Amino acid sequence: MRAFTSESLPRRIVFGCGAARSQLAQELARAGAERILLIAGASHAALSEQLAQPLGERVVAVFDEVRPHVPVETAERACTAARDARADWILSIGGGSTTGAAKAIARTLGLPIAAVPTTYAGSEMTPVWGITERGRKLTGSSPAVRPRLVVYDPELTVSLPARITAASAGNGLAHCIEAFYAPGANPIAAVHAEEGIRALIAGTPRAVKAPHDLDARGETLYGAYLAGSALAVAGTDLHHKLCHVLGGALDLPHAETHTIVLPHATAFVEPALPDAIRTALQAALGRPRTPIATALYEFTTGFELPRSLRDLGMAESDIGSLADEVVAQVPASTPRPPQPADVTAILRRAWHGTPP
Ligand code: NAD
Repeated sequence: MRAFTSESLPRRIVFGCGAARSQLAQELARAGAERILLIAGASHAALSEQLAQPLGERVVAVFDEVRPHVPVETAERACTAARDARADWILSIGGGSTTGAAKAIARTLGLPIAAVPTTYAGSEMTPVWGITERGRKLTGSSPAVRPRLVVYDPELTVSLPARITAASAGNGLAHCIEAFYAPGANPIAAVHAEEGIRALIAGTPRAVKAPHDLDARGETLYGAYLAGSALAVAGTDLHHKLCHVLGGALDLPHAETHTIVLPHATAFVEPALPDAIRTALQAALGRPRTPIATALYEFTTGFELPRSLRDLGMAESDIGSLADEVVAQVPASTPRPPQPADVTAILRRAWHGTPP
């Protein structure tokens, strides 16, 4: 007999090819947005200008100082921009870093967010915020930062280079894997995660091979949506904590770090997983008789991506210095509590990029 608690927060998801161009303005009007602060990185200037055009004078200011891992200075400047503009809504168009800047405002000023994601990071579905201060990534959870409106449009992702496509989808895969055993795991999150894995595994190789294939892009983005939904409910475990510490301390690229670390963190946890979870993950990955970590390693190394933390520029001497911080962040409910030496061993394998 199952027993669980599941909470759904009110918000609206619009998913479809062309939805950002054809439905964003009416959706924001429906939501009552009158003074919108648009957040989009400088590299998305042309796209965001096109998408914002139907909003006319309702866009009262633009903030384009998007930075990876949301440095605290960026968060402060974004809040100042929102205050100065007397914004009543935030519209973020971009990847997880852009959504992160919007969340920093929502966390401080309580403004609602409309998110138009252009990667597979999944942040737009979660109540999780992150800010980096003096080499440490602080994260927390608040319903106030979870976007109230999300417009998913596969057309916006056709410009993602193959490397970002594969790495970002790997980030989504990580959300799905940990959703099975993170502290808030429940059967509903598992359904989302299972379908998310299936969609990401099916869509990503096709999207990498044929970037303009909207069917492949749609499948991958659908997987990313489910991955974010699963993380939002279940939370995260050892793998995400490792990546957060690496990202905050060494400023490593978020999605690539996830893709490299995932098989190694999973190999550590896997022996402690209940049979039902192991079987469900193997089935979702389409590899019923293969260890989960091996299936993940073979999937992620099938793309032209950096294969090791060494390839990302991490110094070998940094491996031992992060273990205590990771151990302190791992939830008490983790299936296999790691010691600092375990974390160092996981990082060493990820640094070399050898099979798990
Ligand atoms: P990102 O937003 O930094 O984007 C990666 C790169 O892709 C950037 O150079 C960006 O300009 C480019 N890009 C984005 N969309 C593009 C497109 N459609 N075409 C071409 N180029 C495009 O990286 P990300 O991986 O999306 O997000 C990482 C950040 O999100 C990290 O800070 C991470 O902590 C955060 N994140 C948060 C959550 C959460 O729940 N809070 C979940 C996942 C990720």
